[in-house]
Amino acid sequence: MRSRAYNMQSAHVKIKTVGLLSGGLDSTLAAKLMMEQEIDVYAINFTSPFCTCTPKKAGCAAVVTAVKELGGIALKQVALRDEYLEMVRNPKHGYGSGMNPCIDCRIMKIKKAGEYMRRIGASFLFTGEVLGQRPMSQHRRAMDIIDLESGFQGYILRPLSAANFEPTIPEKEGWVDRSKMLGISGRSRKAQIALASQKGIQDYPCPAGGCLLTDKNFADKTRDYFNYTEHPSVKDIPLLKTGRHFRLENGDKVIIARNGNECRKLIDLRRESDHLLVPLNFSGPAVILQGSSLPAAVEQMLYYTKKPVQETALITHAHMGNNKTVFLYETLNKSFMSAYLQAVQ
Ligand code: SF4
Repeated sequence: MRSRAYNMQSAHVKIKTVGLLSGGLDSTLAAKLMMEQEIDVYAINFTSPFCTCTPKKAGCAAVVTAVKELGGIALKQVALRDEYLEMVRNPKHGYGSGMNPCIDCRIMKIKKAGEYMRRIGASFLFTGEVLGQRPMSQHRRAMDIIDLESGFQGYILRPLSAANFEPTIPEKEGWVDRSKMLGISGRSRKAQIALASQKGIQDYPCPAGGCLLTDKNFADKTRDYFNYTEHPSVKDIPLLKTGRHFRLENGDKVIIARNGNECRKLIDLRRESDHLLVPLNFSGPAVILQGSSLPAAVEQMLYYTKKPVQETALITHAHMGNNKTVFLYETLNKSFMSAYLQAVQ
């Protein structure tokens, strides 16, 4: 592992390092500590379909702010997609409190950061991790596993917490002055906040990181999605993030918009094979049905419609390129619906 490629820098060539920058305070501080040692910092940032703060296609806004705070270092942004989803479905090291496979997630990110490190001729990696801060991935055993299974053991420096660990290769080689590394540990953020103010870092918009997989409700939806989907795809995740999801006894799924914004999203996100039901002359939620239980889907629409619905209430029903207007009460009649479905399919 300790190849010449990592050690070739002569005294007058600046050491390069790759840091995993999340946009949170800890990794920003870790980068600052590296820069103060006259080391060339290259940041790498990963987004996943489960980031809470990433608008569609825009990358991580928080990391852009962090890079500005650091005075404009080089930044590589990597969007993790189906490979990541597959890992979430089947993590070697299991889940945390939700569906968060933190150990496998860190291993994947460090492996990718390590490949980038090799490509640009950098000497080591660093992260903003702090011993004991996060329950699943930042205790000593988890960190040992991450280091070992990533393939970069010894080359991963954690500047905020380095004094709590054996010296890494960058410290032993003298590329980094270990006496300037910190020994922060535990869940309190006081030391980091004090350090931020000392270093003049004011803007850190994503202090706790934003990962939907730790959210219990979203974890339930994700578990259900994996149970019923043979070939999961990141393309399905935006719909998973939208609306209330109900699995019917026969395996069909009903998704109900919670507000006007989600009504518009459901209309945009539905697949051609989904049934889309939208109130036409009354105020109620848009509904997607995956399956064929239309009366049950309409019952759910009515359940979440606040005001009483008139006999004349109409809904539009879109499915496989067909678009029909029907009386809502007719759709609750199973024999009407079965004749109707035969006619439209
Ligand atoms: S919280 Fe989410 S993004 Fe963070 S390590 Fe865990 S799975 Fe990965």
